[in-house]
Amino acid sequence: MMTFQDIPGRQVLKERLAGEIREKHPGHAYIFEGPDGCGKKDFAVAFAHMILCMSESGSKPCGKCRHCVNIKAGGNGELYIIEESGKAISVSAIRELQDNIALLPVCNDKKAYVIVDGDNMTVQAQNCILKTLEEPPEYAHIIITASNSDNLIDTLKSRAVLLHVGINSIAEIKEYLYNATDRTEAEISLAAQCSSGSIGKAMEILESREFGEGRELAVDFITGILEKNFREAHGIADRAIKYGMDIFFAAVSGIMRDMIVFGTTGNVNLLINMDKKDIIINGASRYPGNVLARIAFISEQAAVNIGYNASKKQTMDAMIVKITEELTKW
Ligand SMILES: [Zn+2]
Repeated sequence: MMTFQDIPGRQVLKERLAGEIREKHPGHAYIFEGPDGCGKKDFAVAFAHMILCMSESGSKPCGKCRHCVNIKAGGNGELYIIEESGKAISVSAIRELQDNIALLPVCNDKKAYVIVDGDNMTVQAQNCILKTLEEPPEYAHIIITASNSDNLIDTLKSRAVLLHVGINSIAEIKEYLYNATDRTEAEISLAAQCSSGSIGKAMEILESREFGEGRELAVDFITGILEKNFREAHGIADRAIKYGMDIFFAAVSGIMRDMIVFGTTGNVNLLINMDKKDIIINGASRYPGNVLARIAFISEQAAVNIGYNASKKQTMDAMIVKITEELTKW
């Protein structure tokens, strides 16, 4: 049975929801919003089991009450999952749910419903479930997961508690990746920074071909500019445009960070990009920290501008011109 312990991170939210169960007033309707791949369905199912468990603890399902025993025996207990995997959820699926909700619970004093990707409900389906949310039976709890709650009608949203379940801190994602993969600290750190707070996205990035190549291009780019080989830097920037720009810029930023740290402390053990330590030590010994910080700042600005849909080619060229101006003084 899925429990909160099986789901990494999101401590504050877990504690809040566990508290609602301990105090015996879980809400009748929730919307769990988060990006694709963030594990919001698992989160919703784990919470539903906690609502249904008849023990008093409120921290995790007890494994012993009638609901938990039924689940262990391969049943569904009083948990009902509505899932159409990518297709629109039609009004008939919601009517089935309503027929079910009308029946009193059998093995428990509660029933829980998880509507997976509920933002795929048609407008008719949403209007239909609205009637249930307006007057839910005392025993019923409904959790709707959604990638984008803007796709839900306002009247539905106003009847439910909207929670953002998708976003993990970078530290939480790094901790998860350390346990789940055998990748280096540099790779984990970079994937976590490019993940937009989603563990699923961080894993996808780690496994993508663009990841390793984007990082190597960043290393070549930095080597080029520090050698004042600006023609080569332009060529590398053109290639980087074909890859995920966020990986490229996060890698540039991580390596510049290491150079500044090494320049300040001289301590190689503080480097994240340990596999690139020769380049980092070389850069830190050739340029003072304030110049390196300026280069880091210029590249971060370029990343922000590209995030705002500026032309990639023009932004990269302008970035190299600015860096050239900084470095030709040295
Ligand atoms: Zn239980």
